[in-house]
Amino acid sequence: MKSIRFRTRLMLSFWVILILSSCIPAYYIFQTLENDIYKEAKTNAFTQLDFIHWILAGKPVDKNNQAFYQLDQWCKEVAKQLNYRITVIAAGGKVIADSDVAYDKIKSMDNHASREEIINARKSGQASSIRYSITLKRKLIYAAKNISLANVPSGVLRVAIPLSTVESRLGYFSRQFLGILFVIFIISTLLSVFLARRLEKPILDIIQAANAIGEGNFDKQLDIETGAEFSQLSACINEMSNKIQQHIQQIIEQKQELEAVLEGMVEGVMLLDKYGKIKATNQALTWIAKCVPSCVGRRPMEVFLNPEIQESCNRILEGKDAIKRKVEIDNETIYEVNLVKIPDGGAVVVFHDISELVRLEKIRQDFVANVSHELRTPLTSIKGYAETLLDEKFRASDQSESFIKTIVKNADQMANIVNDLLELTKLQQQQKKTLQMSEINASACFSAAWETCMLMLKEKQIQVDNRMPDSVHVMAIDNSLIQVFRNLLDNAIRHSPSGTKITVFAEIGSEVVIFGVADEGTGIPQLHQKRIFERFYRVDKERSRDSGGTGLGLSICKNALTGMGGKIWVKSPPDDQLNGSVFCFTLNTPMPVESL
Ligand code: ADP
Repeated sequence: MKSIRFRTRLMLSFWVILILSSCIPAYYIFQTLENDIYKEAKTNAFTQLDFIHWILAGKPVDKNNQAFYQLDQWCKEVAKQLNYRITVIAAGGKVIADSDVAYDKIKSMDNHASREEIINARKSGQASSIRYSITLKRKLIYAAKNISLANVPSGVLRVAIPLSTVESRLGYFSRQFLGILFVIFIISTLLSVFLARRLEKPILDIIQAANAIGEGNFDKQLDIETGAEFSQLSACINEMSNKIQQHIQQIIEQKQELEAVLEGMVEGVMLLDKYGKIKATNQALTWIAKCVPSCVGRRPMEVFLNPEIQESCNRILEGKDAIKRKVEIDNETIYEVNLVKIPDGGAVVVFHDISELVRLEKIRQDFVANVSHELRTPLTSIKGYAETLLDEKFRASDQSESFIKTIVKNADQMANIVNDLLELTKLQQQQKKTLQMSEINASACFSAAWETCMLMLKEKQIQVDNRMPDSVHVMAIDNSLIQVFRNLLDNAIRHSPSGTKITVFAEIGSEVVIFGVADEGTGIPQLHQKRIFERFYRVDKERSRDSGGTGLGLSICKNALTGMGGKIWVKSPPDDQLNGSVFCFTLNTPMPVESL
């Protein structure tokens, strides 16, 4: 029934209603008509019977002993005139005269006592019945009447009139009726096909519109004018389509906003489904996980190759609400991973790069440890010697002066460390602001630094080969540049044996000037070259400390140069030497006037 078309169902329904509404009244009318016709036929039969009875009553009495034969002949004669069958039945049911049966055969006829009309006529004087006559082989209407006449033996007089006229009337009526029914049926079929098509058309239009909405085509607007309900329905569907379109538009906009937010985040974000597979990620996560082409559909373990992440994801999916943990990926980046359960059974995982924070925290911890360590050594020494001097015996001895000198030396060392630390802090704070640099002559700054190192140079008999032109203009802060030169010269002197040479040069480029301070000293092993610019980093701690170093000189240089937009690096040994080292740094040249 489901697969039958609406049009066919409608037509079938029409037909059923039509058949029921025309056949029931037609059947009723036909039945009434048939009854009426039969009733009329019976009345007619009784009228004829009465007439025959009247004629029979007037028939003269037969005097001879051929009374039955006479009666039979009389019946045949009357029947011939009237075209009926006339039968006279004796009281016991024996036929004594019959217009349609030869006289000699009457004796062999069945006893008629059990015939319906005979039984009823006996009971109520007269009766009728309609039956098929085996004798005459056709349907007849029988009308019977008790007779008690002087000229005929008592019994029953019966008239049988053929029903052919009645039946032909009924046949005519039924043919007429069937003809009308057929015409009605054809007209109503055509009408129902037309109506069903008219009704089906808007339904097909609605189906088409609903399919279009389902496929996301909201431009199609329904316009059905047939029937108030259909036009109302089409208006509802159009409104529904517009609302769906608005909602979808809203959802798309929200999705785009969310995607923009996710894509703009530096944190990696991934969404897990309830089966623990990656459902979606943002660009940052693709970079973190180095997924090519996409992480979607894979498990976290396949993507990160990290059991800790997989284990956290498993715990969240098993029911834990939120997890926060630190994870190192590829042994280089540290992430704070936040996992939060979402209502549909999946989870959101956010990767926040905290490598810099961890690094800064480590630097801070190392710095505190280093400062404490650096200060503790001279402090311990000062305390030791001072306590010794408290003893009068030692105070009076010749050693007391050397003790006091050591105390002063260590106090100087501590003062140097504190000064360098303050300098470093100042430089680091300056880096956060934009420094007010000016065009200065780097050669003059070097000369100023050289001046301060004269005593040390003399003591160690070290020559300085200054290959810098008299005027080298750079963008810098003079005090900072003097300090850079001083620290580099100081290092070169302290780490070079007596009688060696320090060479200072400058290579002037269009945008930057490269300065170099080269010595012929101990040099720096490759292993340490990268780290010597860190605070308190020393290749040989004891030697550096003994020579008055604080471990902060190069760090100060690096910070000062970074603040002025330059860079510093070391090459040990220099390209053209077997030992020693060269410290190079850059500074920007002033911009040409025309380019300003
Ligand atoms: P320090 O005050 O100890 O010299 P620096 O920061 O200036 O501290 O230098 C860091 C370390 O780099 C030194 O301890 C030393 O081991 C090494 N170094 C610096 N300059 C030179 C140099 N010219 N020759 C050899 N080693 C050097």
